[in-house]
Amino acid sequence: MASIVLAISLMTFIIFFGRLPIFRRTPIAWLYSFFVVHVPNAVLAIDRRLTGGRCTSSLQRFGSFMMNDKHPTVVIFFLVLLVGSEYMAVPSAWPFLTGFQRVCVVVFCTLPYLFLYLAAYSDPGTVSMGSLKYHLSLYPYDYALFQPGARCYTCNLLKPPRSKHCPICKRCIGRLDHHCIFINNCVGVGNHHWFLLLLLSTAFLASYGGWTGINILGDRVIERFPTWSLWPWRAYEAVGANSALAGTALANSPRKMPFDMWLMYLSWGMKNFIHLGSVSLLGMLISPLVWGLLAYNLWNVWTGQTTNESLKWSDWKYDMDDGLVYKRRMSHERRTNVVAATTEAGGANPLTSSTRWPVEAEHVLVRSEDGNPPAANNNDLPGVGEWERVWTLRDVENLYDLGFWNNLKDIFIPNYQFNTRGLPAAERRGRPRKRVPRK
Ligand SMILES: [Zn+2]
Ligand SMILES: [Zn+2]
Repeated sequence: MASIVLAISLMTFIIFFGRLPIFRRTPIAWLYSFFVVHVPNAVLAIDRRLTGGRCTSSLQRFGSFMMNDKHPTVVIFFLVLLVGSEYMAVPSAWPFLTGFQRVCVVVFCTLPYLFLYLAAYSDPGTVSMGSLKYHLSLYPYDYALFQPGARCYTCNLLKPPRSKHCPICKRCIGRLDHHCIFINNCVGVGNHHWFLLLLLSTAFLASYGGWTGINILGDRVIERFPTWSLWPWRAYEAVGANSALAGTALANSPRKMPFDMWLMYLSWGMKNFIHLGSVSLLGMLISPLVWGLLAYNLWNVWTGQTTNESLKWSDWKYDMDDGLVYKRRMSHERRTNVVAATTEAGGANPLTSSTRWPVEAEHVLVRSEDGNPPAANNNDLPGVGEWERVWTLRDVENLYDLGFWNNLKDIFIPNYQFNTRGLPAAERRGRPRKRVPRK
C-alpha cells in the first residue's frame, strides 16, 4: 500500500510540475515527457492499428473534458480522501489522545475544509468591464512581461499587468498564478492567500496526523512488547529462559533487536490498528509532497513572481541565451504614446495616474527577430536612447519583487497601500530590488 501511495504521489507531482523550468534537464522533466508525450503517443499508435482510432478519440474527448473544462472531480477526490482518512483514523486514535492533542486534532482537521472552501469559492480576481479599472491600479506595466495596450481577444478587454486569460475558467484573472484543479478554481489576486493557507493547513494536518498516529500505534506495540521502540536502533530483545543463549554470559544483557524482528512487531501493530496505521502511513508519505508544494509557492513569493511569470521569464532566458534580447532606459514622459489605447478603461487614465505600487519600470525589454538591435530613434517602441544587449536574467529587474515580506503583504492584504507615494524614486525603495534568479 505504501508503495502504491508513493507511486501515485510521484506521478501526480511529475504530471503537475514536470514542465516547470526549475526541472529542465532533470529526470523529473524526462519522466514528464515520457508520461505526457511518449505514453499517449504509443497508446494512440496501438489503437490506430486495432480499432482505427475509435477508442482514443472517445478517450480524447473525455481527456479534453477532464483537462480543459471546469469540473470538481479532483476536489471531490481530495474531499473523499480527507473525510475518509479522518473517519478511519480519528475515532480509533481519540481514546489515546491527551486533551491538548484533541484540541490540535480538531483544529488541524477543520482548517483545510475552511481554506478549501474559501479558495474554491472566492473570486480569484475576474477582470471584467467593471473591475478593469481596479485591476489596472494594482500593478504598473513592467515593459518586459506585460506591455500596455495588450488585449485579451476572448474577453475583448485590456490585459492588466500580471493578469492572464484562463482557458479553463474562460475569463481573465488578475495576477493569475495558475489554474488549480485541486480547488477547481484559478489562483489569482483574489484568493492566493487562501490557497497558501490551504497548503499550509494540509501540510500540518498530514504531518501532525501521520506523526501522532504512528506514535499511538508505537505505544500500543510497546504495551505488548516492552523492549520494542519506534526507532529500530533503540529496540532491544530480552534474552529469555527459552533462548539459545540462556545460561550463557549474555543471558541477562539485552541485545539489539534484529530489523526483521522489529518489522514483525510493527506489523503486529499495523494489523491490530489497521485503520489508524494505514492513514498515518498515508499522512507521513504525502507530507513531503505537500510541504514541497508549499515551499515551491513560497519560493515564488520570495522571488516576487507568479507561476505564469516564471514560465514567461524562462522563455526570455532562452532568447537571451540566443542574443535576441535588448533593453533601453524607460522614459515615463513618453508613456502618453500608449494612453490613447487605454483611456477606455474609464475615468482616470491608468497610465498617467500611478498605481499603488511603489516602483515603476526603469527599462524596456524587447526581443529582436534577427539579433540586431532596434533603431535608437524607433519611436514606436517605448523608452529612450541606445539599445543594449541583455545576456542574462541577472541584468534585468523584476518590477514585481519588493522583497519577501512586502510580497507576502501584497498577497495577504487586499489592495495593500505601500505607503511610499510621493517620495523620489531612489528613496522610496525599501531595499535594492532583487533580481530574478537565474534558472
Ligand atoms: Zn481573457
Ligand atoms: Zn481558471
